[in-house]
Amino acid sequence: MTRKILIVGPCAAESAAQMDTIARSIASVLQDSYAQLFAPVLRAGLWKPRSMPASFQGVGADGLPWLANAAALAGCPAATEVAQPEHLTAAYNTGIRQFWIGARTTANPFMVEALANVPLADKQGVTWYIKNPTSPDVSLWSGAVERLRKAGYEHLCAIHRGFALGDHAAGCYRNTPVWSVAIEFKRRYPSIPLLTDASHIAGHADRVAEIAEQAWRMGMDGLMIEVHPDPANALSDAGQQLTPEALRTLLQRLAAIDTTASAAESIELAALRQQIDETDDELWALLSKRMDISRQIGDYKRRHGMPVLQQARYDDLLSRRMQWAAEHGISPEAAKQIMDIIHEQSVLKQI
Ligand code: PEP
Ligand code: MN
Repeated sequence: MTRKILIVGPCAAESAAQMDTIARSIASVLQDSYAQLFAPVLRAGLWKPRSMPASFQGVGADGLPWLANAAALAGCPAATEVAQPEHLTAAYNTGIRQFWIGARTTANPFMVEALANVPLADKQGVTWYIKNPTSPDVSLWSGAVERLRKAGYEHLCAIHRGFALGDHAAGCYRNTPVWSVAIEFKRRYPSIPLLTDASHIAGHADRVAEIAEQAWRMGMDGLMIEVHPDPANALSDAGQQLTPEALRTLLQRLAAIDTTASAAESIELAALRQQIDETDDELWALLSKRMDISRQIGDYKRRHGMPVLQQARYDDLLSRRMQWAAEHGISPEAAKQIMDIIHEQSVLKQI
């Protein structure tokens, strides 16, 4: 059985006492029998990339010994976020061997390159976790992987932490999960374990479990979950950190969901998949028919000197389709995404 990677710990290291307390609590959670499903790693941010300069920026290198001691107490490796070469050198020199690159850093190829080029004595002993960039750009995410590979690192993992989608956000999460981007990353890098950062996606402690469960049921390779001894008084991300007891409940719930069976040999599943293939054939035949009609509409608009884009018509079509989706148990946002692609192709066809 391949164990799921479980990166747990506070958003940020705040004091030696806080790290000591959380390490003891996590050690206790890891005593439970279900914990053998997981390969644990203790996280704590020391250098925090905060949007606002007045926010808590992390304790910096002062927290390195706290993290190292806490990991020893919890009985697992330590991981921290590095964004600049000095962070990496200082953490490496304290004995820390696991690092994550935050979403804002992955988005910046110069910064990733600078990290990749830091000379470390034993690159094979280092594990990197590369979070997705803030925008849903799988190539930018891949670029960070390639830069670390080029620099000689072999132990790479990736973390889907959701995306800042602004007005396009769906589901009221802090960072919208875009599973299609995560799945495309997995398609490009099948051998790189892909974790889900349920905390930074959810943004609220009450919603961490639903994201963790989705990731688990999909068969993702691990989770990052923020845990704090006193979430309400945390210096960063207070709303989304779990108490150790909530972590215990969540891990128990995940462990009860069995996703270990192989799909390969099931006759029932093969029959259902055949139905999916047949339905897709019909769907694509209909799409092709729709495109043909679009071409005829394009001819008509051309002959009559009409512009291709008819916004009012599309608004009407879209709102009817989104309403239909809602009535049929399909997410209206997903229906909109599908319609937007179909409409864009139709407009291009007409042109
Ligand atoms: C973090 O893990 O503490 C963090 C800042 O995450 P992200 O880069 O995903 O925002
Ligand atoms: Mn955080």
